[in-house]
Amino acid sequence: MSSNNIRIETAERLKKLPPYLFAEIDRLKRELVAQGKDVIDFGVGDPDLPTPTYIVEVLSEAARDPRNHRYALDQGMPELRRAIAAWYKERFHVELNPDREVLPLIGSKEGIGHIPLALVNPGDIVLVPDPGYPVYKSAAWFAGGDPYLMPLLEENEYLVDFNSIEEKALKHAKLMFLNYPNNPTSACANRDFFVHAIKLARGHSFVICHDAAYTEIAYGGLEPMSFLQVDGAREVGIEFHSLSKTFNMTGWRIGFACGNEKVLSLLSQVKANLDSGIFQAIQWAGVKALAYAKEEAKKNSKIYEHRRDLLVDGLNALGWRVSKPKATFYVWAPVPPGYTSQELATRLLKEANVVVTPGNGFGPNGEGYFRMSLTLRDERIEEAIARLKKLHSR
Ligand SMILES: *Cc1c(COP(=O)(O)O)cnc(C)c1O
Repeated sequence: MSSNNIRIETAERLKKLPPYLFAEIDRLKRELVAQGKDVIDFGVGDPDLPTPTYIVEVLSEAARDPRNHRYALDQGMPELRRAIAAWYKERFHVELNPDREVLPLIGSKEGIGHIPLALVNPGDIVLVPDPGYPVYKSAAWFAGGDPYLMPLLEENEYLVDFNSIEEKALKHAKLMFLNYPNNPTSACANRDFFVHAIKLARGHSFVICHDAAYTEIAYGGLEPMSFLQVDGAREVGIEFHSLSKTFNMTGWRIGFACGNEKVLSLLSQVKANLDSGIFQAIQWAGVKALAYAKEEAKKNSKIYEHRRDLLVDGLNALGWRVSKPKATFYVWAPVPPGYTSQELATRLLKEANVVVTPGNGFGPNGEGYFRMSLTLRDERIEEAIARLKKLHSR
């Protein structure tokens, strides 16, 4: 190394991030793939199905139009905001003002990651579900806040037990993240749950951010509800939605937040200093996608439902204890006795070349569980079950 190099020090906020618990599994997986092994990966929550062609067509046409080549409006095109409001009304029977109560995002992760910068001061508490989507915690840290973990327990059907949150955490809370249908547990919430959350938020003056990435992936005719369908929700919070999972558009980066006008304007202020909007061609594709939301949701949910039955029935036939998710494309299950989450994941990977996600990677209360994504073709699921069967008979 040249002596001209300065010493580059990691900022404290990055040092605070927890160790990446999937690193060992990732390394092992790469090693096996390099050896030419056929690894079946149930780890990633990223749809294997392509974006519908009619959406791709809109993008390619819009990409050729020079009017779309310039900086986009920070708040998103009016056409997109109107399309979002129209979908919301049709799907949830909730009226949103497209100018003030809808904010397009560069994927919902972008908004989730930035919202604490708008609401949280150093030392404030951010209430986060555990296990949970890891971004809630890192976003809180980046804003100088302290994440307070709200355990999601099997005996409570993975709903937050609001009564168990300590008074001093509530007192200093500025923000509560919720996420139903839930990643990783696949649990769904009902109206009473949200009513309770809203009451708490009013009593302690904190904002609720409900992450609703999976409302459109549900089974048996279930239509998961929006947080904003509950009276008083708009006074205390916002909801995050994503086009990623609904339309197989994870790589495109488009989502939105909606609800409380003041919260959205603060988030918009943060964003105005960080990004310059979503590529307009992608916004036009989003307008098209939302017009077909109902059909796409139905079609994709049917595909995942079939995969879910293949996987869960297959695992239960081996004597595992797995229940069928009612929504999301995740199967969440306890590890068989005698294993930690990491031990199970490592053994399945080494001996069956099957990747599952160890639950502890989603937080301490994920220990003792594992997650499998339904983002694989039927044949791959069948092949994985066959391998596990062989493992059992050894
Ligand atoms: C996938 C996912 C997101 C992020 O979605 P993008 O819109 O692609 O950023 C947010 N929350 C949860 C719980 C997710 O699983």
